[in-house]
Amino acid sequence: DELAPRTAELVRRRAAAMGPAYRLFYREPLELVRGEGAYVWDRAGVEYLDVYNNVPSVGHAHPRVVAAIAEQAARLNTHTRYLDEATIAYAEDLLGTFPGSLEHVMFTCSGSEANDLALRIAKAATGGGGVIVTRNAYHGGTTEVAAISPSLGGVDSLAPWTRVAHAPGGGADLHAAVASAIADLELVGIRPAALIVDTIFASDGVFPDAAGLSLAVAAIRAAGGLFIADEVQAGFGRLGGGSAGAGPAGGDDAGAAGQNGADLGLWGFARYGLEPDIVTLGKPMGNGHPVAAVVARRAPIEAFAARGRYFNTFGGNPVSIAAAQATLDVVREERFVEHARAIGPRLRRALEQIDSPRIGEVRGQGLFLGVDLVDDAGRPDEALAIEVVNALRQRRILLAASGPGNNTLKIRPPLVFNDTDASRLVGELDAVLKELS
Ligand code: PMP
Repeated sequence: DELAPRTAELVRRRAAAMGPAYRLFYREPLELVRGEGAYVWDRAGVEYLDVYNNVPSVGHAHPRVVAAIAEQAARLNTHTRYLDEATIAYAEDLLGTFPGSLEHVMFTCSGSEANDLALRIAKAATGGGGVIVTRNAYHGGTTEVAAISPSLGGVDSLAPWTRVAHAPGGGADLHAAVASAIADLELVGIRPAALIVDTIFASDGVFPDAAGLSLAVAAIRAAGGLFIADEVQAGFGRLGGGSAGAGPAGGDDAGAAGQNGADLGLWGFARYGLEPDIVTLGKPMGNGHPVAAVVARRAPIEAFAARGRYFNTFGGNPVSIAAAQATLDVVREERFVEHARAIGPRLRRALEQIDSPRIGEVRGQGLFLGVDLVDDAGRPDEALAIEVVNALRQRRILLAASGPGNNTLKIRPPLVFNDTDASRLVGELDAVLKELS
C-alpha cells in the first residue's frame, strides 16, 4: 500500500539525514505524538494500545514522574561530581530492594553502559577475560557488549573471549551448556570472568523457568568467574515476583528470601533464589528517562576501584535520579508487582485458549509473555509473525516479534495494562490469525 504523503516524506527525510543503519517498526511506520497509560496517539489523533513498551513501565507520561523531572530540571541539573542528597537517598532506597550482599550501586545512562561497566568490574575482580552468554542474547551496543550479543549477528561478531551457551529452550539445560563453555575457554587458556544472563531470556524467546540456571551460576563461580544478572528487561516488577519452576503460571509466593528490605518481587534473579555478584538495570528505571545502573557486591567494586576510577558525566544526574525515584515510588505505591502477578496468568491463559494451529507455545511470567507463531509443521514461522505484527498495527495494537526464529510475539506492555486491554489484544490477535489463515 502507498504511504500517506506525510509519512513518506518523513521516512525519506529520516533516511537522508540519519542514514541507513536504523530500522523503523512496521510497513506503515508510526509517527507518535502523545502517550498516556497504556495508550499512544499518532499525529492524526488515532489511539493505539501499547503492548510492547516496557520502558514507560508505570505508564506513558505518568504525572508523578513528569512532575519530578520538571521540578528538578527547573531547579538544577549538573554532572555527577557534586554532593546531592537525593542521589544518595535513591541509592540507599534502591539497594534496600536487593539482597544485603549487594552493597553498592553505580549509575550510568543506558543498559549498554551498565553491562559494559559490569564486564570491566568482573574482569578486574577475577583477572579473567572470558564471558559466557546465552545463544541469542542481547546485552547492548557498545563495542564491548556488542561482542557478547550474538543476536546482533552480522558484522558485530563476537569476541574471541566470548562463549555461547546454547540454552535455554528446546529442553536444553543451561548448566551443561555453561560447563562446556567454561571447559572450552580453559582449553585455550582464557580464564572465565563472568556468566551474564538476561533473567527473562527476552531475546532468546522469553523463558521464565530456565532449567539449570542455579547450577550454571555455581559452575561459573567454581571456575573463578562472577554471575551477572542483566535485569534491563526483567527488572522493576514486570515479572510479578513468584519463583521460577513453580508451574506454568509461576508461583503465588513473593519471590526468594534473603532480601535486604522486604522482597518486593522486583527482580528476576530472585525467582531462582540466586544472589548475583553484579546486577545491571536500565529501561524501566526512569520510566523513559535514560537512567541505568550497576548494583554489585563490595569486593568486585573494590577490585575495580583499586585499578582506576569511574566517571560518567550524565550517569545519575539529579534529573535522572528524580525520574528514577518517582518511578520506584510509583511501582511500590500503585502495587504494580501485585498487578503483574494477578493479570499475567489470566492473559496467558486467554492467549493459550485462542483456537489457532498457528499458535505454538505461550511462555512467560507476569506481564512479560512470548507467543510462538508456527507453520503447519509446528516450525517457527517468521513470515507469519511479520504479517501478524503489521496486521495488529492496522488494528491499533502495537507489539513486535523476536527470538532466535523472529517468530515469538513479545508481549510486554506498560504495567497499567488491564483486563479490558488484555481482552482487546486477545480478540484482535484471534481475528488476525483467522484472517491470515
Ligand atoms: N540488556 C538487555 C537484556 C537489553 O534488552 C538491552 C536493550 N534492549 C540492553 C541490555 C541495552 O540497553 P540500552 O539499549 O539501554 O543500552
